This record gives sequence, C-alpha cells and structure tokens, in this order.
Amino acid sequence: MVVDASRTTFEPAALAVLSRLYGAGAPAVVELIRRTGGCTSPIRLAGESVAVSARSGAVLARRSTRSEAPGFVLAACGNRRTSRCPPCSERYRRDAYFLIAAGLSGSEEKGVSTEVASHPLIFATFTAPSFGAVHRRVVDAGGGSRRCRPGGASETCEHGIPMRCLERHAVDDPRIGQALCPACYDYQAAALWNANLGALWRRTITYLPRELAALGGLSVSALRSQVRVAYAKVAEFQARGSVHIHAVIRLDGPDGPETAPAGGATAQRLAEAVARTAARVAVTVVGPGGRELMIRWGSQIDTRPITANRDAGDGQGAGVAGYLAKYATKDAQLGGGLDRRIRVEGVIERSELTEHARALIRSAWTISPRWAHNLGFRGHFLTKARRYSVTFAALRGVRAQYRAQADPWLTEIRAKAIGDQVVIRRNFRYAGPGLSPAERAVAASFRASEMVAGNRPAAWRNTRTLVGPAGPIARSPWVPRAPRQGSAP
Ligand SMILES: [Zn+2]
Ligand SMILES: [Zn+2]
Ligand SMILES: [Zn+2]
Repeated sequence: MVVDASRTTFEPAALAVLSRLYGAGAPAVVELIRRTGGCTSPIRLAGESVAVSARSGAVLARRSTRSEAPGFVLAACGNRRTSRCPPCSERYRRDAYFLIAAGLSGSEEKGVSTEVASHPLIFATFTAPSFGAVHRRVVDAGGGSRRCRPGGASETCEHGIPMRCLERHAVDDPRIGQALCPACYDYQAAALWNANLGALWRRTITYLPRELAALGGLSVSALRSQVRVAYAKVAEFQARGSVHIHAVIRLDGPDGPETAPAGGATAQRLAEAVARTAARVAVTVVGPGGRELMIRWGSQIDTRPITANRDAGDGQGAGVAGYLAKYATKDAQLGGGLDRRIRVEGVIERSELTEHARALIRSAWTISPRWAHNLGFRGHFLTKARRYSVTFAALRGVRAQYRAQADPWLTEIRAKAIGDQVVIRRNFRYAGPGLSPAERAVAASFRASEMVAGNRPAAWRNTRTLVGPAGPIARSPWVPRAPRQGSAP
C-alpha cells in the first residue's frame, strides 16, 4: 500500500504551538516524536553520549543534549499492551514474532542455528481447570453454534439457580465467561490458580524429561546426555478470567540448538510426554485464611506436532509464531481485568468491570494487590528457555545498531577512527515526563500515519521529505498539510 500523503497530516495548529515553544528547535522535537513511532507516553532524558576509542580509551567526541536543541531526547515507553501504547505494542509484537519464529526454523541473521528446523517440535495448549459453571460458546465440528449448557431442567445449585442455559451465545455475547451462579463460582481458587501458574509451569518443564525418559526406556541422566528441552510460551486470558498457556516446545541435542537430539526423540513422543506430565504435575499452595489448594492443569491439554516446513513461506510455522506474538501483546482486559495496576482498593468497586471480573479481582487483591488488575496472574506474558532462540534485549540491540548506522554523528566518528573500534558510553538521566498537548497531537498524527502505512517497518516504506515549521527536517513518509489561509502564523 502506498502512503496517501494527503491523508497523513499534522495539525497545523500543533506545529504552530511547537514553533512558539521551541523556536528553531521545533523540527527537532517533531523528529524526536517521530523516532518514538508516536509513543503515547514517552519520557524525556537529558545527558551526553561519549565516543571512546576501544584501543586507547581516548575520548573521540562528545554530544550533549545541553548544546543541542531542544535540550532533551525522548525515550519510548515500551509498553507491551495495545491498549496503552499502540506503536510500542506493535514493536513488541514484531520482536515477539521474530523471537518465536527464530526458534522454529533458526535464523542465521539473529544467531540461532538453522539446525533447529529439523528438531522435534510441538505446539501445546495448557488450560485451567473449572472453577464453576460459566456461560460459553460451544461450536460443533461444522461451525454451528450449540446450546450453552443443555442440562436437565431440574438441575439447580444450592442457591436455587438453574445450572442450565439453552442459549446459543454469539461470539460477542458479553455473558460468555460469566458465572451462572456467582455464589457457587470459586473465585478464590481461580485467582490462586492464576497467581501460581508460573510455579506450575516450572514444575511441568522440570518433570517433562522424566516422562520423556520413561517413554524411551531410559534413566533421566541418560536422557539428558541425549536430549534437552527448549520452549517459548505465551499466556492468554480466557473470557472467564483464567489464563491458558500456549507453548512451542522443542527437543535439542545435549549441547543445545546446534546439536541434533538422539533418534528416539520424535515430536509424537514429545507430545505424549507433555500430555502425561501435564496430567500429573501439581503445586500445593496455601491461600488467604490458610486454605490449601492443589494447583493443576485442566483436563484439556492439546498437543500438536509441527512437522511441516516451518519457514515463514508455508504458513504453518509462521502461523504459530504470529498467533503467539499476537497474544503476547494482549492483556488481562480479555479476561475482564484492567490494563494498569490498582493502587487503591476502592478502584475495584469503582471501575467499569463485569461482576464476574470484579469478584475475581477482589480475590486476587487478597492474594497480592500488585497483580489484582491482572486477575492474580503475575504478568509474564511471554517467557522462554534461554536456549530457545534470541532474547528481546538482543533484538533491541540489533535495532539500536541499525539506528546507529543512520546517525551522521556516529558515521563521522567511525570514518575518522580507521582501524579502531568506537565505543559509545551513554549517560542520560530522567528529565521529565510525557508530552505537552501539542506534542501529543503530533504523536497522534504519527500513529495515524503508521496505520495508513499498514504497519510496515519504516525502512520498507517510501519516504518523503517532511517539511516542518522551519524547513526540511527529516526523511519521513509523512507530509504536513499546508496551513489553511489565516490559520497559522
Ligand atoms: Zn510507547
Ligand atoms: Zn449461557
Ligand atoms: Zn449457586
């Protein structure tokens, strides 16, 4: 899609305000906002970059925000949640995609051995057990919608509420996930389950080699000399407010991704071992009031070997990576929670929530106020084994390197330092929050342009020269609309 410049414009009024605020520095502010991708809540940083010779340690050059307009730089918020910051969330989603895809088929560019493409791999979904009857959408094999809970007419709970519902709920029916009887639903257990999901997962991964060894007729130590488990997992909230885990689980050889696992290790055996492990592991926890609870997986564990070509081209591997990356940017709002931390208990009663979510958050608050907004879940939406693939930090490093290549200041220093490595030491401190209203308007324009451009990385797009209030300032796909007559200075 080609960017339609006539529809991607800045508010002339916002640019006029920036001109008044920053004078000749206004274009630099617009450029800083552009570089955050239109982040909704960046912070200001002030400080200096020092270029140092790696050989001699001598300072080659300094660049300080004090001597350059506008006197600060902007750092994007980096929030993972779409609801909080669309551009930062989009960047996170792309990183999550690369991180997962690199572990499916390898990536020489990102330093993940392409040997992993031939290793046994499964896609597994781990569900939560039931904490009480909820309204649900049931779809049969033909795609037809079935009745929610067609029980007998006489079935009522101890509170006299019928435990049946004859409706065929539509996809967007707000009742889906809500308890049939809130008094029966075990909100405390549901919140405790979310809160201890991390421990249950760790136990699952710890015990998986035992089941693998048993299936192969080996001792655990013999298995470890042949096979290692690597994984990446993503948490997803269900409508009822419980978290499910989707994971890709891979078998490598004893020395990691570069080595092949022994012959007996197949995707089918891995799938079977995962199902057996999931059925057996449990974590015993003590909740509020001394209540003891066994945390276990629900009975619906789905394991699917991924055997087709995993490269982006054929769709299957790319489909899995895309699916997981999408969930990594969603949050507790899907399960009815809130997208930010609750600091005062009263917020739970005041917030716009379903009664089901409110009850779950109340329970989660008694376990840990820190994670109540997340319905008890402790917030690691995407985690992975160290050896699965690259890290988010490595992907950010690649991006920083890419930006550095385009930085004329650095290019000049590198050109002079022939045969020497240049090390950049950055020393920046917090210099204030956020954006002024005019700056917010400019950031919103960048976000709107990003959507028009179809969310492709900047390097792929056509670029045009952006003309700000004080002349050309940057190469960019966005062009400000010419001020209407009499509307700007
Ligand atoms: Zn942001
Ligand atoms: Zn129903
Ligand atoms: Zn009841």
